[in-house]
Amino acid sequence: MKTKYIFVTGGVLSSLGKGLAAASLGALLQTRGLSVTIQKLDPYINVDPGTMNPFQHGEVFVTDDGAETDLDLGHYERYLNVPMSRKNNTTSGAIYNNVIAKERRGDYLGGTVQVIPHITDEIKAKILSLSEGDQAPDVAIIEIGGTVGDIEGLPFLEAIRQLRTELGRDNCLNIHLTLVPYLRAAGEHKTKPTQHSVKELLSIGIQPDIILCRCEQSIPAEMRRKIALFCNVDQDAVFCSVDVGNIYEVPLRFYEEGFDQKVAIMLRLPARNANLESWKQLVYDCAHPQGKVTIAIVGKYVDLKEAYKSLHEALIHAGIANRVAVELRYVNSENVDAGNARDTFEGCDGILVPGGFGYRGVEGKIEAIRHARENNVPFFGICLGMQCAVIEFARHVAGLEDANSEEFNPLSDHKVIYLMTEWFDFRTKHLEKRDTGSDKGGTMRLGAYPCKILPNTHAAAAYGKEMVEERHRHRYEFNNAFRDILADKGMIFSGLAPDDSLVEIVELPDHPWFVGCQFHPEFKSRPMHAHPLFRDFINAAKQRTAGRQHIAEG
Ligand code: GLN
Repeated sequence: MKTKYIFVTGGVLSSLGKGLAAASLGALLQTRGLSVTIQKLDPYINVDPGTMNPFQHGEVFVTDDGAETDLDLGHYERYLNVPMSRKNNTTSGAIYNNVIAKERRGDYLGGTVQVIPHITDEIKAKILSLSEGDQAPDVAIIEIGGTVGDIEGLPFLEAIRQLRTELGRDNCLNIHLTLVPYLRAAGEHKTKPTQHSVKELLSIGIQPDIILCRCEQSIPAEMRRKIALFCNVDQDAVFCSVDVGNIYEVPLRFYEEGFDQKVAIMLRLPARNANLESWKQLVYDCAHPQGKVTIAIVGKYVDLKEAYKSLHEALIHAGIANRVAVELRYVNSENVDAGNARDTFEGCDGILVPGGFGYRGVEGKIEAIRHARENNVPFFGICLGMQCAVIEFARHVAGLEDANSEEFNPLSDHKVIYLMTEWFDFRTKHLEKRDTGSDKGGTMRLGAYPCKILPNTHAAAAYGKEMVEERHRHRYEFNNAFRDILADKGMIFSGLAPDDSLVEIVELPDHPWFVGCQFHPEFKSRPMHAHPLFRDFINAAKQRTAGRQHIAEG
């Protein structure tokens, strides 16, 4: 077996940045010429995060193959620039689901089905699936969600304990990320929580090889020696993950610590010297913008930035590509109405309406879009944002006053956004009669679909190609019965499914930049390759600021 495994566990408390640490280590190993993949194991019982409230869980990240996954997979893709898939994320719920299905089928031949070995075997199989086939990576990093000591995490920890024995020490490495708080009053770092956390790991048979300490400021050498001594690791195997202002700095900081080098040595990886030029350039560009644009994000989950993680990152990437800092103004759509739109968006260079579900706040989004359309403010609508742009146009330009989405008003005479009755089977990719059951699961269009781009449009200018692939996560579609009516009034359908059956992008001419897309482009944006639509949206915002400054100076 060629793949080497790195297991990353977390101690003391959650939100220490395990996902970013795993992604940054992966990126560093990549720059050393190794192929890397990362898998997230989530101990919760939901089969996947698709049904979870973004308030609690943050964004649902969608892969090309249509898996609804943890937002850490977004970090993995952004840092590694390799597509993740269904293989890269699982949960306790999914593991149990498989084991119970096997039990019902009689696969266990009458045996008693238990956590050990049946659940742990299922977990091990999921981990080992990464090294199957001829595409097996050199390194697979496995991030275990949650914190050591959580009851629900135990089967995962037991599985990695067993794997290390089975695969051998040269092929597996345990990294434990903990918090080392700095007590200002005492003027020193405190190692006790780390000691306790490692003790907890040891009690279940896992000896960490490397301790990665999340800390406010770098930990002095003598303190590191103390941690090494108490935690049974090499003196040079205690590293710091210091707080940084920009998350794309983490790989550089890790490199300065010698973290990836130690990993390469311990795993006997055939690694060449790291080449960090592109990361250095990225961090430099982030720190040296030549201007600033302010973008309003009009949505429902504005209090929780995690709910729009990829979107937020995609805007930063687009800022880097345009050499501007992107300042985000989160606007709660429930507070927007025709009377206050002008004040609300005063000073904004662009308005973005992201994806979402449910009626709450939709009328405010429509008002925000009307404001953008009528005042030539660059506008970008994503998924629900595109659907709202269609509704707004139908109501206020085409005069269909009760235009709506079937999601919000099933009784409207003008359901410009609707559930297709001729349902497209998204698994077989065929049009067929839809079973209109009440179960919402499985009726979403998920994952990557091709989209044909109409020449001489904003979309064509952005992509510079005729065919693209983008990721979807929605239930409703543009209603083709209204295509001609809206086209007559000037709406352009600049992105279509290859057989013309589905509208994927709409835009307006005679406006600096007004584009809505049914898919989620934010999932495919990378720090070093901004997504073309985001890039052009920010560019339009930049032109608007420049224009405003010009007027002010004149
Ligand atoms: N609620 C809309 C739908 O289901 C949009 C979903 C989204 O924005 N992701 O089609």
